[in-house]
Amino acid sequence: QFDVLVVGGGPAGASAAIYAARKGLNTGIVAERFGGQVADTLSIENFISIKATEGPKLVAQLEEHVKEYNVDVMNNQRAVGLSYNNGYDITLANGAVLSAKSLVLATGARWREMNVPGESQYRGHGVAYCPHCDGPLFKGKSVAVIGGGNSGIEAAIDLANIVEHVTVLEFANTLRADEVLIRKANSLKNITIIKNAQTTAVLGDGKRVTGLSYTDRESGESKMISLAGIFVQIGLIPNTEWLKNSDVSLTRFGEIEIDAKGSTSLPGVFGAGDVTTTPFKQIIIAMGSGATASLGAFDYLIRHSDN
Ligand code: FAD
Repeated sequence: QFDVLVVGGGPAGASAAIYAARKGLNTGIVAERFGGQVADTLSIENFISIKATEGPKLVAQLEEHVKEYNVDVMNNQRAVGLSYNNGYDITLANGAVLSAKSLVLATGARWREMNVPGESQYRGHGVAYCPHCDGPLFKGKSVAVIGGGNSGIEAAIDLANIVEHVTVLEFANTLRADEVLIRKANSLKNITIIKNAQTTAVLGDGKRVTGLSYTDRESGESKMISLAGIFVQIGLIPNTEWLKNSDVSLTRFGEIEIDAKGSTSLPGVFGAGDVTTTPFKQIIIAMGSGATASLGAFDYLIRHSDN
């Protein structure tokens, strides 16, 4: 039985595993794909103290750091269930069951995609999902934000400070963002908002994004905009489908509810990173929350464990 079993091998999980192992706890980490979203990231310029790096390079360093410690790393394994049986049991897709006194759930999240031609081809070459991460790459250029909810309008306001012009494309005939954000966006001269717009394709020159096409849902007309970048802001989906039948409390968006110590609704079960209710989804934040969750687990174990 593990003292701490970490589910998820992104920055949150890696950090949680290191913090747990450094407390002398018997630690395991089970991950569908070690590295998580970082493995899909080209350039990273906001991981403080490292001016610039690349996703795969950071993943290799994370792995190297975890392996410095006595951590049982089980990669390419997907958790499919969580149950209680004199400790917590994590069932894997291959049928194996791992047992632990405490858990850190760090299964991350994934961006909802538009699923239009060109999107995956130009991902990282103009198609972006994170304005905090990639906004500065488009300094002085024109970009689009897809989605007129809170994250879309926030992204547009954020980007308007950096880029030349932002076009927001919203599928519906109204924006779903808070009124105060809509007012702010409307007050900025370099933001144009287009409603009733269904994005139909990402256009490019083979190397980078050059624009997008959309259908005006009112007139049925097909239109084109020239752009250097497209920020897709139509939702971030937490990877919690596997927890739906467990007793871990999730919000209506599927995020794991945690408190300041990373505790979930189940004693001894902690959450960290993008999968939780933490409001901002970034590598440095995920790592911090992984540390918090493991220190929370340590705190729990010294109070509840006999050996
Ligand atoms: P994730 O990185 O999502 O890791 C989740 C882990 O859980 C993975 O190992 C996954 O395989 C595993 N997992 C999921 N489900 C299961 C399961 N059922 N069983 C077992 N394992 C499971 N942030 C920045 O700070 N700077 C950037 O420049 C930046 N750029 C980005 C660019 C892109 C393209 C993307 C997608 C994200 C970017 N981010 C960036 C965001 C950052 O990557 C995330 O905030 C961060 O990776 C979250 O870490 P996490 O550990 O919580 O989750």
